Amino acid sequence: MMQQYLALKAGYPETLLFYRMGDFYEVFWQDAEKAARLLDITLTQRGQSGGQPVVMAGVPFHALENYLARLIKMGESVAIAEQVGEVGASKGPVERKVVRVVTPGTLTDTELLSDKSESLLMAVHQAPRARCGLAWLSVTQGRVFLAECAQDELGAWLARVAPSELIYSAGVTERFEQQLQMLRQGGAFTCPMSPRPDWQFDSALGERKLLENLGAASLQAWGAQDLGEAHAAAAGLLTYAEHTQGRTLTHVHSVQVQRNDDLIDLPATTRRNLELVKTLRGDDAPTLFSLLDTCMTGMGSRLLKTWLLEPRRDRAEARQRLSATTALRGAGGAGGGSGPWALLRGELKGVSDVERITARIALRQVRPRELVGLGKTLQKAELLALNGQALEPYLIQIFGHLQPPEGCTGLLQAAIAEEPAALVRDGGVIANGFDTELDELRAIQTNCDAFLLDLETREKARTGIPNLRVQFNKVHGFYIEVTGSHLDRVPDDYRRRQTLKNAERFITPELKTFEDKALSANERALAREKWLYEQILDQLQPHVPALTRLAQALATLDVLCTLAERSLTLNWCAPQFVPEPCIEIEGGRHPVVEARLAETSSGSFIANHTRLNANTRLNANTRMQVITGPNMGGKSTYMRQVALIVLLASMGSHVPAASCRLGPIDAIHTRIGAADDLANAQSTFMLEMTEAAQILHAATPHSLVLMDEIGRGTSTFDGLALASGIATHLHDKTRAFTLFATHYFELTELPAKARHAINMHVSATESGTDIVFLHEIQPGPASRSYGIQVAKLAGMPSPVLHHARHALAALEERAGEDELQVDLFAAPEVPESAGASPLEAALAGINPDALSPREALDALYQLKKMA
Ligand code: ADP
Repeated sequence: MMQQYLALKAGYPETLLFYRMGDFYEVFWQDAEKAARLLDITLTQRGQSGGQPVVMAGVPFHALENYLARLIKMGESVAIAEQVGEVGASKGPVERKVVRVVTPGTLTDTELLSDKSESLLMAVHQAPRARCGLAWLSVTQGRVFLAECAQDELGAWLARVAPSELIYSAGVTERFEQQLQMLRQGGAFTCPMSPRPDWQFDSALGERKLLENLGAASLQAWGAQDLGEAHAAAAGLLTYAEHTQGRTLTHVHSVQVQRNDDLIDLPATTRRNLELVKTLRGDDAPTLFSLLDTCMTGMGSRLLKTWLLEPRRDRAEARQRLSATTALRGAGGAGGGSGPWALLRGELKGVSDVERITARIALRQVRPRELVGLGKTLQKAELLALNGQALEPYLIQIFGHLQPPEGCTGLLQAAIAEEPAALVRDGGVIANGFDTELDELRAIQTNCDAFLLDLETREKARTGIPNLRVQFNKVHGFYIEVTGSHLDRVPDDYRRRQTLKNAERFITPELKTFEDKALSANERALAREKWLYEQILDQLQPHVPALTRLAQALATLDVLCTLAERSLTLNWCAPQFVPEPCIEIEGGRHPVVEARLAETSSGSFIANHTRLNANTRLNANTRMQVITGPNMGGKSTYMRQVALIVLLASMGSHVPAASCRLGPIDAIHTRIGAADDLANAQSTFMLEMTEAAQILHAATPHSLVLMDEIGRGTSTFDGLALASGIATHLHDKTRAFTLFATHYFELTELPAKARHAINMHVSATESGTDIVFLHEIQPGPASRSYGIQVAKLAGMPSPVLHHARHALAALEERAGEDELQVDLFAAPEVPESAGASPLEAALAGINPDALSPREALDALYQLKKMA
């Protein structure tokens, strides 16, 4: 056995090998130690092999999923060796084989996957001239993506695709490997990565594999024929994926080429800063996605996330989605909950994950209960396909794909029992009436009791023994029991089986025949069920492409209904796409902040207008807003809301505004200071400048740029100088649509010199020494910064406030003078008024260093009296 184990293990040196032994999966030696550490299971020792005690650990087979889930979460992979031979068929141990390798990027088990996110395997190929070929795959979607990029764009791609597992050729240069490692350390991606044999990254092999999967003679139709470097990555990708599944991936029928300039560029910083799918703290909610995702199915949630993170520059798709969503909203408007969307969502509730089940059919890993779910869902889909016609062109196309493939529903219903066992092995999976032979075998088991009763009656009559009994036990099988007093009446054909104290047990030829049949019937029924199940899987294979399409149609319908529902519930409007460059929003809102205000009943959200355009014929030709005003005034919220509205429109959603006109957009860049990354070794200021430099390089006149408080990380003059340099560059050279929030009041002078910039400010009013935020964005620079009032709101001790007021007055007084030399740290003189209480004034007037203990005590009494 150990020889067999070691031979298997040799094929998977880097992977934990789970070796099936009866009801357990065992791991040995180093694997056992690793598993014991990771899973907190007990190590044991048994026997010896090569003079060494065999160290092992095991997990019960029925709890496998649970342990796998934990290991995968930790980034481990597991090879699973099952018993494939017949027990006792040959000498030595039962034949075993690694049937699959479970890895983070190639998971298909519904139990191990998160409902709401895709698990992606990605392969990177290092190509000449500092280029890279990329290929990635969702095994459950059955789709390969291809791309090529420059080596220095790799980080951005990895951040966007966010794979669950990364592989690369063992033949890459050391520098390339280091770059990958650095990207991982820098947080561009987080998944495990591992090298694979170099020969597997072969361009011709990749092309051949892709063509085989697509069943095509050329990749031209997919626009993928010239992507040699990506083909090489695809070769490594598919070879590895096949290796993990233990078979070719027949269900991968679709290839999609992604080009940098197809998608709106959403760098990792933008996704983080805008809190699209994770909050800055790393939580799942509240985010734009958590607000949007009321999908009825996991397939819908996953598709929605893709739409959100991969909006296209070309607005055709967004237009199509908008038009369908508008049709689904119906004429009823908000409140009724009765548009076509509501009915459809009722139907979509509870449908199974057809996408993942289909992949598992193709990989022959599907469970009986998943097939039952699929059968029910297909019935639903058929009804939907019949009833949901004639709404709108895109929807008609979707409903067309909901028609289940011919014969599929019928097969599933006829073949699989309504409530099957979890595993085929346990039996009771195939429906009664599907197969005559199985029915007969099952009949033998059910008819057993009747036969035995009948035999007993007949034997009693034949022998005249009144208390004769026909029975069964596990050790001796069937027998006829006769008590001592009647033994003389036992007929000749009875053979003695066992002698007891007061009785004898016999068997007859008839009973023996029955016993053989009954005992083997159970085994044969199980074997028959297993065989039938494989036949059903065979029959389902040709339907896989149609089922994949159907899954996609269900997911798309789910997302469109969700967008319709959200737009009505949250009162969003349809954006208008126009060819001229502009971002014009009337009454825009920040959807997540608005939802939070509503939830906590802390007032209503103040809508704001935005007008950025570049129509040179009009006078109102604004590309940049310099936004000033007090902290907490709403600057960040305003800037982010503009970006979110642009993003929502670009994905084809309605938007939180009264109206929205949008020109072409190629990227959303953000530089926002709040997320100071402590884990990152780079200093805050260095990070700030790196990000700003990246934006200046990447942005175009069609980009939206948000700059929040740039220059904060260094001394005032440095910061101010840099901020004005950056703003000027964005205005003069980059000419991107820019929202530039700053606490440098000096920057409000920019619009006087820069034609396409205007000043905006967030409004606030003062009442006494307090401040009230109005959250309105208004033209013109802020009149003052209200920093001290905000500090007061924040609970700053009053001596500090007093000190600050004093210093501010001094600064303002001397601001006109040439030399700005104010001693910020001089103790302020103590005026009677100036908002300070007599107690504060007295306190400020005390210099503890100059007091004797006695005087200090006196002063304390005095202060106490004043309080
Ligand atoms: P700033 O960037 O100017 O410091 P923020 O944008 O962070 O200010 O806003 C501070 C808080 O003010 C937000 O958390 C939000 O609760 C509230 N707020 C901002 N904008 C609005 C608005 N338009 N309507 C209502 N409340 C708002």
